[in-house]
Amino acid sequence: MVKQAYDHLLTALMTLQIAPGDRIAIDQVARRLDISQTPVREALSQLEAKKLVVKTPNVGYRASPQMTREEVRDLYALRQLIEPYTAARAAAAMSPRSIATLKSIDRAMSSIVDGDPDAFSNFAAADDQLHQLIAALSGNRLVADMLEGLHAHMHIFRALYRTNAPSEAAAEHRVVIDALVAGDPDGAENAMRIHLERSLQRMDEALAGEEAPTT
Ligand SMILES: [Zn+2]
Repeated sequence: MVKQAYDHLLTALMTLQIAPGDRIAIDQVARRLDISQTPVREALSQLEAKKLVVKTPNVGYRASPQMTREEVRDLYALRQLIEPYTAARAAAAMSPRSIATLKSIDRAMSSIVDGDPDAFSNFAAADDQLHQLIAALSGNRLVADMLEGLHAHMHIFRALYRTNAPSEAAAEHRVVIDALVAGDPDGAENAMRIHLERSLQRMDEALAGEEAPTT
């Protein structure tokens, strides 16, 4: 029942049915899912650990505020320092098993159609899986744990929901995956750098649109 509540809330947060800053009423969620409040509370505390909701004394839970453009740029600057390195290290450490996993992630991402809201959270999950896998394959636990702690993808996809165009990112991912499968560290490093640059551009444009005065 915790999982049911978690999935329900996560989908609502990712698809902006619960908008950034919105209050989340535990009793309403419980009633809607026809479960008790305890699993809803447990799901919310899991989402709090992922920084998707915040708990405020006397108020309860709210959806985390949208990242500002400044915060997004800082996040990407950090990722640019780390992820080209993890991609290069991963390319040098490929095994048949990791190649098979990469190919299955690639297949999952390729099958997603732009503009389909249901497919979008699948894409977000596949993207998360890809970047985490590359970090794990780098063999540097410290870096992998740090990237996981950022939960960058969830925030990014939440913000980009309205500009849903995963085919661009899927094409960039394919260049990264091809270089990894070929065991090409320089190619993987470069492809990751380009993917993060373009991803930041998409993010920045989406946020610029939101911050612009509504005239
Ligand atoms: Zn990505």
